[in-house]
Amino acid sequence: MTERPRQTASHAAPVFRFAPSPNGRLHLGHALSALLNADMASSTGGRLLLRIEDIDLTRCSQELEQAVIDDLTWLGIAFEQPVRRQSEHFPLYRAALDRLKAMDLVYPAFLTRSEVKARVSAFEREGGTWPRDPDGAPLYPKEERSLGEDERAEKLATAERHAWRLDIARAQRVVGAKLSWQETGDGPQGEIKADPAAWGDVVLWRSDAPSSYHLAVTVDDAAQGVSHVVRGLDLFHATSVHRLLQTLLGLPEPVYHHHRLILGPDGRKLSKSLDDTALSTLRAEGKTPSDIRAMVGI
Ligand code: GLU
Repeated sequence: MTERPRQTASHAAPVFRFAPSPNGRLHLGHALSALLNADMASSTGGRLLLRIEDIDLTRCSQELEQAVIDDLTWLGIAFEQPVRRQSEHFPLYRAALDRLKAMDLVYPAFLTRSEVKARVSAFEREGGTWPRDPDGAPLYPKEERSLGEDERAEKLATAERHAWRLDIARAQRVVGAKLSWQETGDGPQGEIKADPAAWGDVVLWRSDAPSSYHLAVTVDDAAQGVSHVVRGLDLFHATSVHRLLQTLLGLPEPVYHHHRLILGPDGRKLSKSLDDTALSTLRAEGKTPSDIRAMVGI
């Protein structure tokens, strides 16, 4: 396998982005991420973009998007206009999927999440251990990659609901084993070896929403010329998938900075359902933007 030359985003000024999903209110964890992006952009003379990650049309709303913008404005963060909304770019993600289809690297996946779960439970009841991804979810059964052409064509013809998944084994054969990224964050630093196979055959196009997080984020970081991805350590391992997709699609490679997470009183990552750390709640209690900076430790 020949090693491909590494493509690096080259821009006069560094480009940062904050990319929240408007499916709930922003909390202290988002504040840390947004403020770090803003501080790094200002200390490097860089640009700061806002991307609204609203591919999940059932969970995201216009009101929540406005609330995100209000919270960020209150924090004193100014983003370049226009704001990019993923829901306005589905054809772009579709084109990327079509390229991967033309390379024969994706396949229609017909099992629902509960069917996968049932298969995994049956296997584990027999004493086996089913492989899990870095988030703990069971990998999609490998044998589904190789459904017969006839069976696949028949299912597609009857418009059976399906997602599109990446055939990770084929994708890795195309890219080779030497996939890595440059990391400057709060976890491991330097050149990090990517391990996309840990995720199995990831979903690139959901059956219930256009596109998937992985495909949209990869396409958008390139479309927006993002040179520095600053986000939480919870997305550290997802970077392996993003580097694989960038390489397959011939897209440039940003530098990554995965920052520490703000944990709740139970020691777990904050979630949008924890109301007491919502920026809107803290603001209503009389906290100021500098209190928020102090609370997140910057
Ligand atoms: N939209 C993702 C989130 O809210 C962040 C994506 C990213 O920064 O790559 O968790």
